Amino acid sequence: MLEHDAIQSAVNDAYHSFGQETGGKNADYIPFLAGVDPSLSGLAVVTAKGDIFTAGDTAYRFAIESISKVCTLALALEDFDPQTIQQKIGADPTGLPFNSVMALELHGDKPLSPLVNAGAMATTSLVKASSAEERWQRILKMQQRLTSSQVAISDELNQSEQTTNFHNKGIAWLLYSAGFMYSDPMEACDVYTRQCSTLLNTVELATLGATIASGGRNPVTNEQVLTAANCPAILAEMTMEGMYDSSGDWAYTVGLPGKSGVGGGILTIAPGKLAIAAFSPPLDPVGNSVRGQKMAAAVAQALKLNLYQC
Ligand code: GLN
Repeated sequence: MLEHDAIQSAVNDAYHSFGQETGGKNADYIPFLAGVDPSLSGLAVVTAKGDIFTAGDTAYRFAIESISKVCTLALALEDFDPQTIQQKIGADPTGLPFNSVMALELHGDKPLSPLVNAGAMATTSLVKASSAEERWQRILKMQQRLTSSQVAISDELNQSEQTTNFHNKGIAWLLYSAGFMYSDPMEACDVYTRQCSTLLNTVELATLGATIASGGRNPVTNEQVLTAANCPAILAEMTMEGMYDSSGDWAYTVGLPGKSGVGGGILTIAPGKLAIAAFSPPLDPVGNSVRGQKMAAAVAQALKLNLYQC
């Protein structure tokens, strides 16, 4: 059992050691993200019992970006089952950047993972709905239930992404031509772009993770949001590809499933115990928050959460 004092001091120590670390650069291929204050930095833990520990700018709402892929995967797993996702999308790392076209070329156009852009758009297209609006509303609702918050789209961010997402549109058409897109491809790209354009704070992100950590039951609201049997598949996908082409390094050094977003969010989950969420905009070349990774890793290490430690 992790003591409250131990968790709070791990959070404080990690924040004070790495919360102002230099290095990295805001994402700028989405103009909105280039303008976010790079000095922001927050760290939160939410346990499977719903206890919350924080340090830094944890009330600031940032762009969910790729972390939305976890929520949409969770919804697709509710609509189908782990075998269908494995067959239609995949459960392997690509070893290449999150928006790689070469990764598709190398694997017969199968996206391999719901946590890269190609697989995420395919996953969005799988979500059961009779219209784009219904699909979007179901995805948004899932984000809200996982975070237990009224997570909302930022129109300004969405506009910024929708007017610059030409590369993702190209990927969507490639998937469509290969039979790995399950709705109209431009509709899937549009809804995917919306799902990346919601804002959440670090505590809400940690709550999302704590819901998965506790077998799909949101520890803040007590609502069973996900089927418990689907949670291992989410965590496996996060381990394989959640930190993109440094997923292996994250498993090797931290030993937990993780997920990043180019908005600067980092989520890492200790199954059955807690989730750690960190936020800070400057990214490393792979697209993962520099400070966020260091803060989250330090908490995991202080609390001895590495899953591979016997
Ligand atoms: N919306 C971003 C994109 O599609 C998300 C990428 C990310 O966070 N890695 O490129």
